[in-house]
Amino acid sequence: MKEILKLLDLIRIKLGYPAVKVLQSATGAEVLINDKNILMFGSYNYLGLANQPEVKAKAKEMIDKFGIGTGGVRLLTGSMMIHEEMEKLVSDFTGHDECVSVGSGFGTNAGIIPGVINLMGFGKWIFARKAAIFSDEYNHASIVDGCRLSEAEIVIYKHNDINDLEKKIKKYKRYRKLIITDGVFSMDGDICHLDKILNLAKEYGAMTMVDDAHAIGVLGETGSGTAEYFNRKGEVDLNMGTFSKGLGASGGFVTCQKDFADYLRVACRTYMFSDALSPAIVGGIIGSVDYIKNHPELLLKLKENSEYFRNNLNKLGFNTFNSITQIVPLFVGENKKTMEFFDELFNYGVFAPAVRWPAVPKNTGRIRFSIMAIHNKEQIDTALNIIEKIGKKLKVI
Ligand code: PMP
Repeated sequence: MKEILKLLDLIRIKLGYPAVKVLQSATGAEVLINDKNILMFGSYNYLGLANQPEVKAKAKEMIDKFGIGTGGVRLLTGSMMIHEEMEKLVSDFTGHDECVSVGSGFGTNAGIIPGVINLMGFGKWIFARKAAIFSDEYNHASIVDGCRLSEAEIVIYKHNDINDLEKKIKKYKRYRKLIITDGVFSMDGDICHLDKILNLAKEYGAMTMVDDAHAIGVLGETGSGTAEYFNRKGEVDLNMGTFSKGLGASGGFVTCQKDFADYLRVACRTYMFSDALSPAIVGGIIGSVDYIKNHPELLLKLKENSEYFRNNLNKLGFNTFNSITQIVPLFVGENKKTMEFFDELFNYGVFAPAVRWPAVPKNTGRIRFSIMAIHNKEQIDTALNIIEKIGKKLKVI
């Protein structure tokens, strides 16, 4: 405990302990915090489905029919017909045979990756080759931890750098190989080069996995994710995603071929040893997927809002990194200035998180804006005016 207290002091004094803002309302384009209406520009609720009446009605219906808990894990007593209905809907949506759902997105990566690599400890009995995972340097923490739980050699390639990936993968001819990438990168808002990754994987005999946490409900004509965006629907071996962002609920999943799914149900420990998604959440997910199918205009609105917001920031002279999606990071620089920007923004009534080192490289502190389809023009313009004022005051522009 002595060491922990020392470290905690260091965090409090040097890094700044995160001051969590507590919502007194449902999440949406506007939220209530400290009894004040605040414009929300930092939520993953990209389509506004977290508090959408039709989606909520479906969740309530499932609570009435199936209760609030499942009483077990999927393999034993927790599987309900609504899990199967929801998983069928999700696998059809992403163009795969089957879907395996897990309690959280983090848990999905933490279970799927070692599940695929470790072969349930039977590697030496079936004369399996050694394994290597090729992971983008900006991949999400849950991928990093999933890789650490695996017995593979972990090879990090430069962010979105296919030449570096190829240079590295060439050296692992005799290995079982898995390439993993975020679809939309959560800190920079750029998109992986999935088309090139799929081609490379074919050439070098590697499995592929994409984390579509920020792409599901966002990318592609129907919002089914990165593969659809590149016209390669159904080609990724393990199409991972979360229900907690564009779909407004919580939980994670992977869609894949039937054999892969059958295997993962007995090899993914976070599926096998963790409770099934609650009926309310399952209902919410069914409601959300149906809602997206019936309201394609939401996807267009999200794209339009994101472009409007980013183009205006760029016109004002802000650096938004390589963002081309609804995640729009605004470069500020050093940690202290980034926090000042965040505080000013909040005082003016706009909430978007500050992301600093060590979460991102040193001196690339940023405010990470997340745009929603339910933002209206007035709300976006208000935020832009405030951002401009603060940017000038803090000499960011
Ligand atoms: N992958 C990515 C890329 C994420 O951004 C996140 C959450 N921020 C996760 C996985 C984890 O998902 P969840 O919050 O549903 O556990």
